[in-house]
Amino acid sequence: MIDFELSEDQRVLQASVREMCERLIVPNARRWDEEERFPHEIVPALGEMGLLGMQIPEAYGGAGMKFHDYVIALEEVARADASVGLTMASHNSLCTGHIYLAANEAQKQKYLPRLASGKALGAWGLTEPGSGSDAGAARTRAIRKSGTTDRWVISGTKTFITQGSVGEIYVVLASTSPEKKAKGLTAFIIERGTPGFRTGKRIEKMGLHASDTTELVLEEVEVGDEQRLGEIDQGFFDTLKILDKGRIGIGAWSIGIGRAAFEAARRYAKERVQFEKPIAEFQAIQHMLADMATELDAARLLVWRAAWMQDQKRRTTAESSIAKYYAARATMRACNAAVQIHGGYGYTREFDVERYLRDAKLAEIGEGTNEVQKMVIARELLRQAAEAS
Ligand SMILES: Cc1cc2nc3c(=O)[nH]c(=O)nc-3n(C[C@H](O)[C@H](O)[C@H](O)COP(=O)(O)OP(=O)(O)OC[C@H]3O[C@@H](n4cnc5c(N)ncnc54)[C@H](O)[C@@H]3O)c2cc1C
Repeated sequence: MIDFELSEDQRVLQASVREMCERLIVPNARRWDEEERFPHEIVPALGEMGLLGMQIPEAYGGAGMKFHDYVIALEEVARADASVGLTMASHNSLCTGHIYLAANEAQKQKYLPRLASGKALGAWGLTEPGSGSDAGAARTRAIRKSGTTDRWVISGTKTFITQGSVGEIYVVLASTSPEKKAKGLTAFIIERGTPGFRTGKRIEKMGLHASDTTELVLEEVEVGDEQRLGEIDQGFFDTLKILDKGRIGIGAWSIGIGRAAFEAARRYAKERVQFEKPIAEFQAIQHMLADMATELDAARLLVWRAAWMQDQKRRTTAESSIAKYYAARATMRACNAAVQIHGGYGYTREFDVERYLRDAKLAEIGEGTNEVQKMVIARELLRQAAEAS
């Protein structure tokens, strides 16, 4: 049966997250962007609402919600501020999600309550200066400390890491079997303060100015086997599962930005008068609004389908990439149209639509570029066809 209605609980969640966003985030988003700083002050509110451990069971201090609940909430937060939305997305689905997926019981008990409550922010490091789409090119190495069987020494540099300087708990992927390329990666949990581990250069970005993005530097970081996350050489396989969820989240995140752009454009079109009438009365403007709404609606249905499949514990590799790819493109088009509808004012800092356009671009790059999504979709559909024949 297909049911497009949100449950009563989901409607309450959506309304309460929207209310919190309107009160605490929307009034500050432009200023945070201009100040180019991470808004630490919003983290306790996110934690109190359960938005930093949405899918973590209550036994570990999480909200124990469904994946569909998570994408509903994330869309609301991203609509208010894409940077805060990115904090929520990367903290939940990358760092915390990886620990929940692959950790042993002791690690879950040690890390999940701190992450789910927001007492500690999480970050996740896969990307390196020479290794982006190609995870197999990673040069960060984890080698057994000589003379031991239970200690590791990790060295390398990670880049583009969200929460790179404000995080306290990091999941870092390092190569343990370089000859196996991506299939030789292993994940480690590294805490801020571990000797040899530090935040590197802060990365200046075109958008998402209130999201913290930095390099991570690992210089002979020594950790015990108890910091290894999952099996040796399983890091990439776990990463693929993490990304199946993460990409649905980025789809929802981008729709949130697109919706903010649509709402701003619709408002402006009704207010702005040219040729003695509101520009909303011109068919050209109406068509832009209609295209924005249609594409964002279609994107949300794709995101919700993939989220629903996750909740059914089904494989979503193709559906996740389809949702993310379509949502990212729909949002970029919506943000571009929103600037167009604002005319010259859309190009100024006086209106939020220029920020939405700058922020939205990440949707076409992060957690796999558009080109990588198409590669994944085609590969997965060909695999399914081969299996069926
Ligand atoms: C703001 C921001 C936050 C981020 N946060 C994180 C984070 O928290 N943790 C983390 O690990 N990473 C993070 N990233 C990194 C992000 O995931 C990578 O930037 C992304 O995966 C692309 O890698 P790259 O930048 O090295 O581009 P490249 O892989 O160098 O790609 C460059 C171009 O080549 C294309 N290309 C590459 N390979 C192929 C191919 N096989 N076929 C066709 N085209 C191809 C790409 O699509 C792209 O157009 C973040 C990035 C940004 C900008």
